[in-house]
Amino acid sequence: MELESEDGAPSAELLAEIDEAATRFDKADPVQIIEWTVRRFPGGAALAASFQDAALLDMAVSVDPSIEVIFLDTGFHFPETLAYVERLRKRYDLNLVVTHPEVPLDEFPCGSPRCCELRKVVPLAKALRGHGAWITGLKRVDTPERAEAPVIAWDPSRNMVKVNPVAAWDDDDVDAYVAAHDLPRHPLNYVGYVSIGCAPTTVPVPEGHHPREGRWAGTGKTECGLHV
Ligand code: SF4
Repeated sequence: MELESEDGAPSAELLAEIDEAATRFDKADPVQIIEWTVRRFPGGAALAASFQDAALLDMAVSVDPSIEVIFLDTGFHFPETLAYVERLRKRYDLNLVVTHPEVPLDEFPCGSPRCCELRKVVPLAKALRGHGAWITGLKRVDTPERAEAPVIAWDPSRNMVKVNPVAAWDDDDVDAYVAAHDLPRHPLNYVGYVSIGCAPTTVPVPEGHHPREGRWAGTGKTECGLHV
């Protein structure tokens, strides 16, 4: 089935297929969703990994050991995050693509309006070129804006299929998977960091607080632009 029509829009058949799959897999095991994705887009699916935990990564490589894994190195990550990326790269022999922004560190600093766009959104768009689908770690519990996110959808901003295998999971599900599979944890988990992004905008959260309270705390910002 053709992915897109000549004008770049998805074909009606593809949209129907996505709708059907989104309904069928809504509460499915994430591994089944990844299996569908890899089967449907052979060699054409990529996982955009935040490397705040190893659960989705572990599932993805269990389905396809050579799946392309994209890490957006903004230049502002914690050294612990970069060390964790390297640890997981070696553990899984990852087919890892690391993107770097095309702007120097002292231009458009963290908090300036275009920083996330230039350091995350634009590099991801370039890394995803030529792919048919991207897999994300988005969860409905993350933010109110994500509460209705389907597990599979057409992503009009990138002209490809977007797959959210753990959309129906919460943070306890992730924790349980990590524990059950004895996966290495992000080093900052041990000092109160739960949802981990760039260092200037990530803080630890007290026990019992929502993990996303540790991101862009006090700014009113909830999304970096990758999922809007
Ligand atoms: S979180 Fe901050 S440093 Fe990271 S890309 Fe966004 S604005 Fe830039």
